[in-house]
Amino acid sequence: MKAGSDDFAAMRHAMVESQLRARGISDQRVLAAMEHVPRHLFVAEPYQNMAYEDHPLPIGEGQTISQPYIVGLTLQALALEPTDTVLEIGSGSGYLTALLAQLCRHVYSIERIAILARGSESILRDLGYSNVTLFVGDGTLGLAQFAPYDAIAAAAAAPRMPLQLFAQLREGGRMVIPIGPPGDQDLQLVRKQDGKPQQISLGRCSFVPLIGAEGYAS
Ligand code: SAH
Repeated sequence: MKAGSDDFAAMRHAMVESQLRARGISDQRVLAAMEHVPRHLFVAEPYQNMAYEDHPLPIGEGQTISQPYIVGLTLQALALEPTDTVLEIGSGSGYLTALLAQLCRHVYSIERIAILARGSESILRDLGYSNVTLFVGDGTLGLAQFAPYDAIAAAAAAPRMPLQLFAQLREGGRMVIPIGPPGDQDLQLVRKQDGKPQQISLGRCSFVPLIGAEGYAS
């Protein structure tokens, strides 16, 4: 049987309590945003009943919507302020994009696969997010025209930290990016301190590859 909106709200609440709060996500703005954004609308109908489970799900084109805990960890590490301008690399389903739009002033986002960008654009519009600008292209190059950014979130794994992205962070800015090949990835928080990267490991993770000039070859 198909779940109704009350059922999805209950699943979402259970996700926040058991997958996020119980595992150390304590930032109230992050928890509230993840309690609010209807994650099930960012996956295709057959997957909607699984949208609040503790794992990634397919979104087509060989890509995945990230596990809720990894999304919470990324958002908490970015320590976002309502006045922040954020760059996102790899919007995919648009779920993290919606959360960033809830938490910041403006989100610039780049997705490599046009059909995914079109899908996420329509759902973000239906949900009323007007502070998102979505581009199709190679996100490893960033978007220099809107830099510097207070924060950068990458949802695909790079071989090493892309230098052009780091260059587009403001002093004191934060970037979360998975680094490493499939099966051996580390989620890193990179802070720009006196123009240099300070890297902290947030733990092991499993993302699809970042494909592009400063990523992996396609
Ligand atoms: N946060 C998204 C993650 C999607 S998976 C979600 O939860 O739905 C990562 C996405 O990164 C994929 O959609 C993939 O197409 C995209 N991607 C990979 N390399 C990219 C690049 N160089 N520039 C922009 N997007 C890229």
